[in-house]
Amino acid sequence: MDAEKDGMRTLGLLGGMSWESTALYYRLLNEGVKARLGGLRSAPLLLHSFDFAPIAERQAAGDWDGLAEELGGAGRRLAAAGAEALLICTNTMHHLHAEAERAAGVPAIHIADAAGAALRRAGCHRPALLGTRFTMEGEFYRGRLRERFGVEALVPDDAGRDLVHRVIYEELCRGIVRTESRVAYLGVIEELQRRGADGVILGCTEITLLIGSEHTSLPVFDTTALHAGAGVDFIVGAETGC
Ligand code: GLU
Repeated sequence: MDAEKDGMRTLGLLGGMSWESTALYYRLLNEGVKARLGGLRSAPLLLHSFDFAPIAERQAAGDWDGLAEELGGAGRRLAAAGAEALLICTNTMHHLHAEAERAAGVPAIHIADAAGAALRRAGCHRPALLGTRFTMEGEFYRGRLRERFGVEALVPDDAGRDLVHRVIYEELCRGIVRTESRVAYLGVIEELQRRGADGVILGCTEITLLIGSEHTSLPVFDTTALHAGAGVDFIVGAETGC
């Protein structure tokens, strides 16, 4: 252990997807360490911040092999620079969690595990899941929640998925927060509540810019905060619960 860090472990962030939410992670991780350890303590972090434009293009084109190489290469460089674990600061790119972990050779704390652990603590079994189409439609996220946590996530219908996905890329990842989009999201959440949702997973790290627990009667699971919280646990050497 590095005496200078006084027992803290270094976390590597794969960020910039988008930087709007990586900025939230940076604040949450530092605030979390300060809350635990006090004084001038802050989080030992290494950040690889991608340019999101080519990443989003490759996602849209379905070039997941190319993205795995990018993510894995950056993870490997963070590990070589001293990161003892990684946070992939986006739900969507957890599609490539296994590849990134394998390439880096250090654990990557899974964002769906941070969400699943919180859902389990709250006793929610049928949460609504809002995120990109990749997250809402792929098995990498819903399957993990089902298999590891017994949670069956509900997703919006096709038009709802389209709306949620479009607002993420066209607005939230560009720092644009519109009241009309909040109203539209709340309509999607209400529809899922009618279908039996007992909570809402903000399953994209920018949705917290638009929706908070003050906007809905359902319990809200903010993956940005939950994932950062698991990162703080790792840094201070506590059980991550993931
Ligand atoms: N940050 C978002 C997420 O949590 C979307 C951006 C991306 O596609 O990585 O899924």
